[in-house]
Amino acid sequence: MRIAMISEHASPLAVLGGEDAGGQNTHVAELSAALVAAGHDVRVYTRRDAVDLPVAVRAPGGYDVVHVPAGPAEPVAKDALLPHMKEFSHWLVARWRGGDWAPEVIHAHFWMSGLAALAAGRQTGVPVVQTYHALGTVKRRHQGVQDTSPARRIGYERELGRSVDRVIAQCQDEVGELVRLGVPRSKMTVIPSGVNLTTFAPLGPAAEREPDTPRVLTVGRLVERKGFQTVIRAMELAPRAECVIVGGPPAGLLETDPYARRLRALAETCGVADRVRLVGAVPREEMGAWYRSADLLVAAPWYEPFGLTPLEAMACGVPVVGTAVGGIKDTVVDGVTGDLVPARDPKALGTAVRRLLDDRIRRFGYATAALRRARSSYSWATAAERIAELYGEVTTVRRPTRVVA
Ligand code: UDP
Repeated sequence: MRIAMISEHASPLAVLGGEDAGGQNTHVAELSAALVAAGHDVRVYTRRDAVDLPVAVRAPGGYDVVHVPAGPAEPVAKDALLPHMKEFSHWLVARWRGGDWAPEVIHAHFWMSGLAALAAGRQTGVPVVQTYHALGTVKRRHQGVQDTSPARRIGYERELGRSVDRVIAQCQDEVGELVRLGVPRSKMTVIPSGVNLTTFAPLGPAAEREPDTPRVLTVGRLVERKGFQTVIRAMELAPRAECVIVGGPPAGLLETDPYARRLRALAETCGVADRVRLVGAVPREEMGAWYRSADLLVAAPWYEPFGLTPLEAMACGVPVVGTAVGGIKDTVVDGVTGDLVPARDPKALGTAVRRLLDDRIRRFGYATAALRRARSSYSWATAAERIAELYGEVTTVRRPTRVVA
């Protein structure tokens, strides 16, 4: 099948860890590669955000990445991209009408991609599948006035859900959110993200560490909602352990990064500065080594649409202490593959971390179960197969627009 992935701000080729580059980039890259491995023809359309980018590049995963000229050829914050989506969709339509390649299905990632995809899909008669990755209602609830999303985001997300051919929800929590938003349940199929079981495996090199100091690892974009402040506060309750924070700008820029500075200041205040280390952004290929170096992974977000880092840790045979939010409630089985604690509660988190660090047998049990769960339920091959099946369903429905086109 010819598949167009639309991922306006999140290029599968991006360096991860920065403010707007994380799970969606990984998801689009891995899903596209898995679909290519299953014999499909995949093109990923992402915004051209630098002047020196070629129009199209073949990614190592065997899919093409097409850089769409929409807005300035320079980095633009995700929340300022909406005005450029019309140009994005016009470019797609012109390209598909005029070229030798046109998709049979469009899969949009994030709401703004959805808008561009829907407009292009309507004009060309190609069905649209939507994955939100994150929802404006949830962001607004947790971030309040700090949420810089465009005001119309929530309304657009509702309309998108009603208008596209199918919505892929990544976890049960998202289904509830979408139903409350007004998206019909009948439009949705739950297909969780996968994890790369080759990159993330128990055997392989591990990042250097002190053998006698237990390591608590936490990974993510350095943004407040990822809960790093809670993790630092929790370290007061785990006095022998070190906390390694992976993500954010490259190591050389941490000194000037305002949020990294805040985290360091907090670690000073809590008296744990000598046990908290910020590493900065790590290339995706080296992430496995960091997980393998850890005794446990902490994922402490306030909310989490899916959450790849717990799953990546699990695939490396590393137990997880996570907050009971969003997709983490589906991936981490409480008391079996890890522990779940309430969000924004340093005491509950610190107590769980300490208990697990003090109990080798429990850690071993969690690690074994976590690895088994990641391998049996979250391979990309399985996720891609289910998604391809769904593409097949939407392309067989007769569409009046297609007849006109
Ligand atoms: N990641 C990375 N290098 C970093 C920080 C993060 O490769 O320095 C990757 C991480 O391995 C995961 C993704 O970025 O694949 C983060 O995804 P997650 O779903 O946890 O968070 P999101 O960014 O979607 O909020």
